[in-house]
Amino acid sequence: MAEFPTPHVRARKRFGQHFLERAWVEKMMRAIAPDRTDTFLEIGPGRGALTRPLAEAAAHVVAFEIDRDLAATLRSAAIERVVVVEGNFLDVTPAALDEALARAGLLNGRQTLLRVAGNLPYNVASPILFSLVALYRAGFMFEDATVMLQREVADRLLAQPGTREFGVLTVLIRHAAQVERLLTLPRGAFRPAPKVDSTVVRLRFHSDEPPVRSRPELEALVQAVFTRRRKTVANALLAYRPSGQAAIEAALARASIAGGRRPETLDLADFVRLSDAFGTGVP
Ligand code: SAM
Repeated sequence: MAEFPTPHVRARKRFGQHFLERAWVEKMMRAIAPDRTDTFLEIGPGRGALTRPLAEAAAHVVAFEIDRDLAATLRSAAIERVVVVEGNFLDVTPAALDEALARAGLLNGRQTLLRVAGNLPYNVASPILFSLVALYRAGFMFEDATVMLQREVADRLLAQPGTREFGVLTVLIRHAAQVERLLTLPRGAFRPAPKVDSTVVRLRFHSDEPPVRSRPELEALVQAVFTRRRKTVANALLAYRPSGQAAIEAALARASIAGGRRPETLDLADFVRLSDAFGTGVP
């Protein structure tokens, strides 16, 4: 495997920079399990710890790096099969992703099976997951995403109803993807070491399950309800329909949900039924 470039700049805290130590790169690569025909989107390549082995094993790597210096250094390394895109992944629109894939010679980006990999910056890991869901919903064929997250975020993704970890992230990501825990890493796997442990998860995206009448309405409802997670569902829903006591009662009845339950006891199917109930004849 090619040598890592000598670290030339200090890790930038504001970009969540913690670089994976060599001993752990192989474990992460085994978790990703790249194939010669795969096209990868890498989020946050940093100094290229994963980019290089991915490029050796796959057909294409399109890597998005926010740090101008790291992006320039990686680009100047001119690694075969790698396109480095400088920018914030959170700003990547469907058109921008089409363009980035075209730079790798993939002119029909939305007809290309894509895999996502990344040791995500922990400060924006959840928004990045939501961006991936939005891009998938916009028509990009993500086969999977193998990403390193703060362990607590992985716990929230995998949480069961009725637990403290169950919340917005659980409901809205699991509505769009199946999540599997692959690997847990200690702080010492990175330099500089973060203050938290890390977990690698694999997301397999799918169409909304269960199907929902309006995903934006589901998102608004789930966000609103979990901002008042200590209240009953009936009261928490006032954050969603502030003046709609009657509408709330009607929707709860239609969805067969007792208003006295706590928000985190509702499962994904309950939230979908409730969201649909607000749109079906309920004012
Ligand atoms: N992949 C490298 C590794 O494993 O050593 C670096 C991982 S480091 C945890 C996260 C990387 O994501 C950094 O290189 C950071 O500059 C980059 N980054 C942070 N925020 C980003 C964003 N919004 N879009 C793209 N890259 C980002």
